[in-house]
Amino acid sequence: NRQLLLASRPQGRPTVDNFTLTEAPLPKPAKGQVLLRTVFLSIDPYMRGRMSDAESYAAPVALGDVMVGGTVSRVVSSQADGFESGDWVVGFTGWQDYATASGEGLVKLPSSLAEPSHALGILGMPGFTAYMGLLDIGKPQAGETVVVAAATGPVGATVGQIAKIKGARAVGVAGGPEKCRYAVETLGFDACLDHKAPDFAEQLKAACGDGIDVYFENVGGKVFDAVMPLLNTKARIPLCGMVSMYNSTGLPDGPDRLPLLMGTLLKKRVSVKGFIVFDDYGPEMPEFMQQMSQWLSEGKVHYREQQVEGLEQAPQALFDVLDGKNFGKLVVRVGPD
Ligand code: NDP
Repeated sequence: NRQLLLASRPQGRPTVDNFTLTEAPLPKPAKGQVLLRTVFLSIDPYMRGRMSDAESYAAPVALGDVMVGGTVSRVVSSQADGFESGDWVVGFTGWQDYATASGEGLVKLPSSLAEPSHALGILGMPGFTAYMGLLDIGKPQAGETVVVAAATGPVGATVGQIAKIKGARAVGVAGGPEKCRYAVETLGFDACLDHKAPDFAEQLKAACGDGIDVYFENVGGKVFDAVMPLLNTKARIPLCGMVSMYNSTGLPDGPDRLPLLMGTLLKKRVSVKGFIVFDDYGPEMPEFMQQMSQWLSEGKVHYREQQVEGLEQAPQALFDVLDGKNFGKLVVRVGPD
């Protein structure tokens, strides 16, 4: 049983030296547990936070422990009611080939799900995050302008497509012309701007002629700086993530922009609300699943996944997500179906 352990805590950017690949004996399921073989491991930006011991909403991974992560697995053997060998389940069993888990922590995947890995993306945590954050906090109205960055990732792509379903204008921000083209041509964004362009702030202003009513915050940094002056009165900001800062060791250079931010929030009466999806919205998951499955079957939502082969590739896959080198939801294929 290969396992990737957290060996040390990164200062700034993580490296492969922060992880150790080890072999452990195959675990034995106790009563009420199942033995699982990992097929897909989800790679998500929050994993960078778990490598650090700074205070957060969830405890850090202890040094020497298996890295945490969402997984789609096959049941190998079961001592838990309701699970049989061969079942597909989604769980949180981390960066390893095999794991034991109690039945309560697992959700069985329906046989109707053609691509089990989608339970880690559009039909899982990132899709749910986009749905709840946009609809419960952003509340887009027909004709309003919704802006979202990381627009081709699993959260941002879903935000833009739901905004369109609700009749709003969707303006994406992404890294590079290829991602921007995909956001407009395939996902149906009205416009998508490359945050690496030197005149990005002017391009965003031109694309948001009526200002911004909803800014779904995924990245922070210079994207937020460009958004701030464009916010309309009564704008809403679902505060979902700030991936541009996850590898930072201190505050950004330059003048203190806090007074400008607070002045904008006051004068424009902007609502900003942070959320942690399962903590704040767990019971809404079935409603989301039903709605999203319907939109997918009607062809109203597109989904892009990028698979990387082999558990040993997981650290590099995480670095790539933090650097924007992924194109779509990044999933590691750990083993065969
Ligand atoms: P993605 O797969 O979209 O990966 C992150 C993307 O962020 C990169 O691909 C890159 O896209 C973009 N990015 C990285 N650095 C920068 C930068 N400096 N400036 C602008 N963009 C940058 O991630 P997810 O869709 O999984 O997650 C999106 C956000 O949602 C993250 O902040 C994550 O932490 C958050 N999240 C929050 C949850 C919650 O409960 N609050 C739950 C799930 C996710 P590009 O190349 O296009 O710039």
